[in-house]
Amino acid sequence: MMANIFVRGLKCIFCGKEYGLEYSRLCCTNCKEYKYGSLDVIYDYDRVRDNTRSWKSSHVSTMWQFKELLPVKENSIITLSEGGTPLIKCNSVGKKYGLNNLFIKDEGINPTGSFKDRGISIIVSIAKSLGSKGVTCVSSGNAAVSLSAYAAKAKLDCFVFAPDSISQEKRTQIQIYGAKLILIEGTLERAYEMARFALDEYDYYNCNAAINPFIIEGNKTIAYENWIQLKFKAPDQVIVPIGNGSNLSGIWKGYNELQTLGLIDKLPKMVGIQCSNAAPVYEGFKNSKMNSIPQKITGKECDADGIIAEDSYDAPKALKAIKGSEGIVTTVTNKEIWDALKDLAIHEGIFCEITSATAIAAAKKLSKDGTIDKDENIVCILTGNGLKSISKITKGYLPVIPFNKPDLLREEIESHFKNA
Ligand SMILES: [Zn+2]
Repeated sequence: MMANIFVRGLKCIFCGKEYGLEYSRLCCTNCKEYKYGSLDVIYDYDRVRDNTRSWKSSHVSTMWQFKELLPVKENSIITLSEGGTPLIKCNSVGKKYGLNNLFIKDEGINPTGSFKDRGISIIVSIAKSLGSKGVTCVSSGNAAVSLSAYAAKAKLDCFVFAPDSISQEKRTQIQIYGAKLILIEGTLERAYEMARFALDEYDYYNCNAAINPFIIEGNKTIAYENWIQLKFKAPDQVIVPIGNGSNLSGIWKGYNELQTLGLIDKLPKMVGIQCSNAAPVYEGFKNSKMNSIPQKITGKECDADGIIAEDSYDAPKALKAIKGSEGIVTTVTNKEIWDALKDLAIHEGIFCEITSATAIAAAKKLSKDGTIDKDENIVCILTGNGLKSISKITKGYLPVIPFNKPDLLREEIESHFKNA
């Protein structure tokens, strides 16, 4: 028996049907049309409550300090010391944006450089306990990197699918861990389509973030840590870059559990950020399609490659979280993302991935339009480390001026003096 004794099982977020703790179950039998991301792990909170009192006097160490609310038994954990990432107050950027309490949760500090390590640690622990032959996932990059590392630690075979736009740095990370990387031309959704047959045929444990219900159990520990780091309070708003939204859903779940356990009385608003050129969850939010998967949109040029989505498989969970928290989904432009990335590096010494910078860009935008009050506690989730995409960042940071455009050249030089 490998389950944590406090886990009660799985519950469908649409029809409420409950299942036992079936680690291989990825969807609800009743709700096949919502085959993506509809199951949620539930716990016996009354029993957990007595065992989590010590949390209130703890310091942040690793994700597994919250083992009572993680669906894996202690002796089957595969870990590289994920979690325990710093919460940093950004005074300079905060001042620039008119925010007195702007914080970033730097998930780039995790073992492979992104928040994905939390969920992947959990599902690789599960796959190992199930005796799986190996693990696989389809990913825009970071999840595949993380899965490769944890599979190496667990001595499990690993093959991963990624769109060919994946950065050179992430390719190298995957390959150095010894995983098989299969590149698919085009978008993440195409990679999903192509990978489906392989998932059916080879019987490897399916670690796709949008489908596997155990991944967000790792993501939710971001909320627990933030709660400790803000002196046992929830922030007013949490800003999260979203592709399929499983990170946001996870963090929201974490805060709800803290409330259920009587550890906080007020929940934060959850703010989802997408790139204005590829924003299906935003479209779903605008059109109030809470329970359906938003319309497919055609992916256009978006520099935040970690959240490019034509079709967001886990959107129903994310939209439920956003609406339940009275939060919003908004979008930022490529230019706003680059400006935010530079602000954070130049004024705070923090180098994040392009995707992560969407959260900072959103803080600026929402401060300006009054959605965020200047004194609110705002936590931006920086999902990954800038070192993972240096080649892409170099390209975006140093625009190449076309030969016959002297105006652009002048603009570039003048921007230097403006920022000096
Ligand atoms: Zn159901």
